[in-house]
Amino acid sequence: MKYLFGPVYSRRLGHSLGIDLLPPKICTLNCVYCEVGPTTELTCERKEYVPTEEILKEIDQVLEQGVGGRPIDVFTLTAMGEPTLHTGIGEIIAYLKSKTDKPVAVLTNGTLFFDPKVRAELAAADIVIPSLDAARQESFERVNQPASMVNLAQVIEGLALFRREFRGELWLEILLVRDMNDSVEDLVALQQAVRKINPTRIQLNTVARPPMDGRARPVTREKMEQAAAMLADGYDGRIDVLIDFQAIGEKREGEETQARKQQALVEEVAAMLQRRPCPLEEIDKALHVQDLDLTRDCVQMLVDTGRIEKIAHNDKEFYHYVNV
Ligand code: SF4
Repeated sequence: MKYLFGPVYSRRLGHSLGIDLLPPKICTLNCVYCEVGPTTELTCERKEYVPTEEILKEIDQVLEQGVGGRPIDVFTLTAMGEPTLHTGIGEIIAYLKSKTDKPVAVLTNGTLFFDPKVRAELAAADIVIPSLDAARQESFERVNQPASMVNLAQVIEGLALFRREFRGELWLEILLVRDMNDSVEDLVALQQAVRKINPTRIQLNTVARPPMDGRARPVTREKMEQAAAMLADGYDGRIDVLIDFQAIGEKREGEETQARKQQALVEEVAAMLQRRPCPLEEIDKALHVQDLDLTRDCVQMLVDTGRIEKIAHNDKEFYHYVNV
């Protein structure tokens, strides 16, 4: 399958069968926390980026054959970019609704909701999850790095209009990035935007996975609690905090330990090669690593920094230390 993937389990949607509407990475934004990588085409131009026909064929295939007996709770339209840029999104939602009773969800950055056509195309979905990370221009630019055509006031207005017209559930996701969109002024502006949009739910999040931009760091648990309390003021809906602070703390610690171990191994490899040239397998064995991929990574780090070189000898590849 080229466009359908999963199902993947998510806490908020259950077993979600993803439908990817765009090739990476075409988006109206270039968020600092994006896990996909930098936006290569920053645009607001809507078109049929991949053939709708082929997506519908894959949907037919899944509906006829299933996905290896695994359950599907929801079909989720998404993209490694912004799915509402695809002009076939309305047709795909309508097709799913005509073929299955499962709910249809859309993950979007909400920037094109000012366009009545986009709002009409999403109308048949069951759950729409747009994001809005900032309601102040400077924070919006800092965190989301929008295309020049994107206008923040219009984005908020579009979301509010959509909420009034839409019969399904609108879950507004807000992702806070430390020192970028988490000041009291930012939270007050978001509070006002939330009151205007009045989503069915709010989903508060922070940076959980390695982002494209190292400056994007998670906010603290206290900041998240402050944000939840401020947003709850004057808002009757439910606020979910999506982040598991304990889990990200443990992961970071694990990653740091791993990085330290790898650095130590790099130095051991360098010391060994200073004594004599060796092939990769021998380095792995002599240092008792027993993980050829890890040893190869360490060797490559030394090659990249010019400390060692690869040489051929008797039809075999060796690495030797470069004396500078
Ligand atoms: S809107 Fe989504 S896909 Fe686009 S840059 Fe932001 S996080 Fe990445």
